[in-house]
Amino acid sequence: MPDPSSLFRAIPSTDKSLEALRKALSMRQDELSRAILKAPHALVREAVCAYWDAMRLRVREGRVKDPAFLSLEARLSHLIRFVGKYASPRLQKVINATGVVIHTNTGRSVLAPEAREALQLAAANYTNLELDSATGGRGSRNSLLAPLLRTLTGAEDGLVVNNNAAAVLLVMDTFCKGREAVISRGELVEIGGSFRIPDVMSATGVHLREVGTTNRTHLKDYAAAIGENTSALVRVHTSNFRVIGFHKAVDTEELARLAHEHGLILINDLGSGSLTDFVAAGLPGEPTVQQAVAMGSDLVLFSGDKLLGGPQAGLIVGRADLVARLRQNPLLRALRCDKLAYAALEATLRLYLDPERARQGVPTVARILARRDEIEPRARLLAQLVQDHAGEACMISLMEGSSRCGGGAFPEYPLPTILCAVHPKETTPEDMRRRLLGLRPILIGRIEDNAFCLDPRTLEDEDFPLVASLVARALRDPHKGLG
Ligand SMILES: *Cc1c(COP(=O)(O)O)cnc(C)c1O
Repeated sequence: MPDPSSLFRAIPSTDKSLEALRKALSMRQDELSRAILKAPHALVREAVCAYWDAMRLRVREGRVKDPAFLSLEARLSHLIRFVGKYASPRLQKVINATGVVIHTNTGRSVLAPEAREALQLAAANYTNLELDSATGGRGSRNSLLAPLLRTLTGAEDGLVVNNNAAAVLLVMDTFCKGREAVISRGELVEIGGSFRIPDVMSATGVHLREVGTTNRTHLKDYAAAIGENTSALVRVHTSNFRVIGFHKAVDTEELARLAHEHGLILINDLGSGSLTDFVAAGLPGEPTVQQAVAMGSDLVLFSGDKLLGGPQAGLIVGRADLVARLRQNPLLRALRCDKLAYAALEATLRLYLDPERARQGVPTVARILARRDEIEPRARLLAQLVQDHAGEACMISLMEGSSRCGGGAFPEYPLPTILCAVHPKETTPEDMRRRLLGLRPILIGRIEDNAFCLDPRTLEDEDFPLVASLVARALRDPHKGLG
């Protein structure tokens, strides 16, 4: 057993390490080296310290026996990989081969080219976000997209906030604070990340008056709950949750009629909220925003980055007098979007003016609508590329499978797809999954039938060669990490 103090002494100083690092990097031409050379110096220094701290811990734990293990020569390539990961930006590109189109873990929607262009323009320039172009004075961003929202949804007016949770908060605060709102027990949903819609509502000081049971709520249940202190009837899309079998929910039209008979408003949180009629494309009934408005909802709330396929945003459309009151709520100042969100959202919404263009040009919509027979040749191409890159390290097969919309839309509804299934020879699919998380860009897929499966539905064709090379690296490099 070597003396630990001699081991600690073998650890090189930060300055020596930095110098060796700089020398090594300047001779290498790879992407990782270039990235480290461009990274802020303070971050690289911090990374080097963190690396040797981790080594000191190993020494303390008795896991290092030989001082030579701690020399710069022995550690350098390991140190470079560590620093590369440590000093790279936290937000990274992820290639999503899971087949889940709207994946909250991966930032939901990929934007249309038009939206990316608009983002670029808004990022590089000042904009008229709050400039009144008639007077040159102060305008308001809160009416910027109202005309477009009116045209697209048939509503009288519209407003945009930071996300749909903010939309729920603003609406509840404006119309229901300190009063009661009637909601079905079947709609008190948690939508992932332990985020519960009723909690957001209650945060505004509204008392939720729950009616019916988890699986059945009747119009008379709502009617019986309406009292002097009732402010609104609330409908919440059940998103990722669905009751099957003995189930009864009240139609939006009936609910709207009941609300109006009592001089109340119907607030309809659609969650995903689509402007595309997916029913016409053969997917099960997901009401469009237009339908929700036409059925008499007074305010309809939906996300910008779920089925709409835009940036994170919350859209509120409905009666002009109600939207006007929302604009006057001081809370709106804390919930407003920035120019980047407006730019990307407007460009996305404009595509919907021509529904066919939206179906083809909004990636989220196009990917959900992609048919199995369109995906199959892409799966073949991907399989070929992976086989070419990975060679003998795996077997590839094509497999029938199903993708999902995700994002709480069409709960669990399977979209038929063809998977490119990678069967590793020397390792397990689970091990592959873990290694791919350690590579850059990160590639995520899913494990099915003891294979690591890639679903072309959520992939960009131009990423195929990159996907193939990542898979090959994951099959080749056994243990990368601190390891
Ligand atoms: C997703 C969802 C929300 C929250 O929307 P965000 O845009 O994620 O804030 C609210 N209500 C329902 C029903 C949802 O599905």
